[in-house]
Amino acid sequence: MPQRRAVLAAALLVGAAAASPAHPLTRYEFSSRQMGTEARIVLFAASEDAARDAASRAFARVAALDAVMSDYREDSELMRLCRRAGSGPVPISDDLFRVLDASERLARDSRGAFDVTVGPLTHLWRRARRRGERPDEAEIRAALALTGATKLILNAHDHTADLRAAGMQVDLGAIGKGYAADEAAAVLKGLSYRSALVALGGDIVAAGAPPGSRGWTIDVADLRSHGAAPRVVLRDAAVSTSGDAEQWMEIAGVRYSHIIDPRTGAPLTGRRSVTVIAPRGTLSDGLATAVSVLGIMDGIALVTRARGTAARISVANGDEIRTVTSPTWRYFVAGGSGPISVSSGGLRPAGPPYTLASGAPGPAPLAWLTRDARSLLFRHR
Ligand code: AMP
Ligand code: MG
Repeated sequence: MPQRRAVLAAALLVGAAAASPAHPLTRYEFSSRQMGTEARIVLFAASEDAARDAASRAFARVAALDAVMSDYREDSELMRLCRRAGSGPVPISDDLFRVLDASERLARDSRGAFDVTVGPLTHLWRRARRRGERPDEAEIRAALALTGATKLILNAHDHTADLRAAGMQVDLGAIGKGYAADEAAAVLKGLSYRSALVALGGDIVAAGAPPGSRGWTIDVADLRSHGAAPRVVLRDAAVSTSGDAEQWMEIAGVRYSHIIDPRTGAPLTGRRSVTVIAPRGTLSDGLATAVSVLGIMDGIALVTRARGTAARISVANGDEIRTVTSPTWRYFVAGGSGPISVSSGGLRPAGPPYTLASGAPGPAPLAWLTRDARSLLFRHR
């Protein structure tokens, strides 16, 4: 059974000059295995000891979040919550609450294309991959009956989560890395590192800009194995890539993605790659998965409603690759008019991990987005 799980080539970090008299800081890069993927931190510091200490604190934060959110660890807070599914509200930690809250919003905004309650389906299809045979329809129906964002009730006042049906399983694989990258960047910011980059596999948070530069230059993974990868420049923003380049399975000659369409219970088929830029990693990660499920039309529409975001969607049809970008994508393309900063308020403003601009009525999406992006451009010129 062909299965590939290559280390994410989703992002190649370029950018960043060496120390110069005008910028006495030196660039340091660290990597560590975290959350089942390669985690990388790049930062500029006055000494190696200081840089190493900061990076290890940020990695420790990621490891702590893995202990909260992992669905591979029986003892994670998430798994303990799932074991109590069907038994009423359970008090949960701030971190779990925040990531579930962001997930709930995204489920609503994507009309169920993004749904962390897909756990029964992801488990079913993981088993199918091991066995090399497709689950039967009755199994898919049974898993679908235990899926649905409206079956997960959060109570902000009591700080509880209630999984309404016994057997429900939550899978944070589509948003947890983005949240963890945000949090690692927040640790660095708390230690006064104004310029840092945190990459957790294909989820990257770019804080500030390398000294003397206007932003972090990041190469985005493409469906094509060769040729120039799109290159974006980010400052105080995040980028995530979702696709089947890293993870896919083949059963009876059909290539399935690890992303499931919660509306049908089946994984996506065919090859596609979705890259989303957003003010924070929680949103870029979640949106990249949501847009993968929604496809080109609905995906671009969703991204167009979210402030400070941009998307690039590539879909393969045989040998032909069709690529579509949101109108805002060009602001981030290296060599274009960018870079722009999408969040002036820092990496972790108070409030929910993300907000989506409300839909109609209002100015036409294209008009306000262009205006929005232009004003950001001005601010950082
Ligand atoms: P990503 O690589 O960020 O797109 O996340 C994919 C992972 O999220 C999968 O491996 C599953 O664990 C989980 N997942 C799959 N489909 C969905 C979905 N429709 N909504 C939310 N999570 C999903
Ligand atoms: Mg994701």
